[in-house]
Amino acid sequence: MATTIVSDWDDAFASMAPTPAEVEHERAYWQELDRQEGYADYLAARAEEQFLAAVGEDDRPERREYRGSDGLTKAERLSLYDAANYTVERTGPIQFRAVNVNGAEFEVGVIFGRFARVTSNTGNEYLLHNGACHCAHKQNGAPICKHEAAAAATMVLYRQDPLLLEVDAEVARLRAQREPVTSPKAEVASPALKAA
Ligand SMILES: [Zn+2]
Repeated sequence: MATTIVSDWDDAFASMAPTPAEVEHERAYWQELDRQEGYADYLAARAEEQFLAAVGEDDRPERREYRGSDGLTKAERLSLYDAANYTVERTGPIQFRAVNVNGAEFEVGVIFGRFARVTSNTGNEYLLHNGACHCAHKQNGAPICKHEAAAAATMVLYRQDPLLLEVDAEVARLRAQREPVTSPKAEVASPALKAA
């Protein structure tokens, strides 16, 4: 019976989906990590830009091939910021690996289609919400960061799975249903809602 299945889904996802408080806590946690860890990435890239500017007239190969702390040349790093430069493969139910043409690998886990946990090529982890990153690069005004590019490339493959899309739509429906009410469980159990 259809309503029984929906109820089971409700119960399952009500227990799985993070509450708004948990989401906020998670967001605050990752934002703090960004400040502590991502800033090192930013400083490394900035130092390299300043270095390259300082040796701008110097065309010796060893200068052009100068590598930052992540082992990438400037040209290689630039390719990180375009989703088209990634090849994505699925490595688990919601896990993916995005590999840039420059060889840099990103592990991407997608949660309910809304959150992407991206482990970068420098080993730092970032939590993206609806494709938006809060790393130091973005906070300093970059239009797109490598985490967003890797996540965007991943979502192309992610959206090819009808089951994942179905699950995400169900979670979104549940969230929309419970967000306006203060006591979701009481509301779901009310006869008026069941009849609706
Ligand atoms: Zn980022």
